[in-house]
Amino acid sequence: MRQKMAAGNWKMNGTSASLDALQALAKAHPAPGCEILICPPAPLIHRAAQSAAGTAITIGGQDCHSAPSGAHTGDTSAEMLRDAGARYVILGHSERRSDHHETSAEVRAKARLAMETGLATIICVGETLTQREAANTLDIIGGQLSESVPDLATGENLVIAYEPIWAIGTGKIPTMAQIGEVHDFLRTRLEARFGPGVGRSVRLLYGGSVKGNNAAEIFAVPNVDGALVGGASLTAEDFSPIITAL
Ligand code: 13P
Repeated sequence: MRQKMAAGNWKMNGTSASLDALQALAKAHPAPGCEILICPPAPLIHRAAQSAAGTAITIGGQDCHSAPSGAHTGDTSAEMLRDAGARYVILGHSERRSDHHETSAEVRAKARLAMETGLATIICVGETLTQREAANTLDIIGGQLSESVPDLATGENLVIAYEPIWAIGTGKIPTMAQIGEVHDFLRTRLEARFGPGVGRSVRLLYGGSVKGNNAAEIFAVPNVDGALVGGASLTAEDFSPIITAL
């Protein structure tokens, strides 16, 4: 049985005052029926991990470098994330692919080192609206999946997030049939590459405008094991109903 996951990606939002939301969330969900992950911006990770210690909340990063250390001004290594208390790292988010021109090959190199460092990874894939309208969704996602995921992936160190770019922060979501089609496709591809054991144990998250009022419907879709949530993960008030829906 795959453990369900409610993951919050705070993106470039939050200061130390935001840790209150973490405490409120921990209080509201002392024994949740799913794994709760919060990925704050890098400067908050250490304090967030301290604040979440002894609660049901796990902390993750939003990116890391593909090199273990060195002359890379402004970057964060996988080891630094782990040292700060992170257990996961999001990699290949579409905002990093567009803002920082990250390629799938770079995402794969980052993921390899993150996994070797003992971090679990959430690797993001997703199509643009133009690609969907041209009926290229599965081709795009299949390519991103095979190029971004390293060979050493397991059910413990890999989570895939399907985030259609046109659904992020827009309030638009695909139909449940479209979400189901992509998640089934991801599962089939993972099973073909890694074998049924690993392929069936990797968790698949949907991300893009998940809110309290659409979460239950999305979570009922086969092969959806949870959500990667942006805007609605910033307050306990918004994130709680999503956790409860799992
Ligand atoms: P929103 O939930 O704000 O649409 O963001 C989704 C996302 O990009 C999570 O990584």
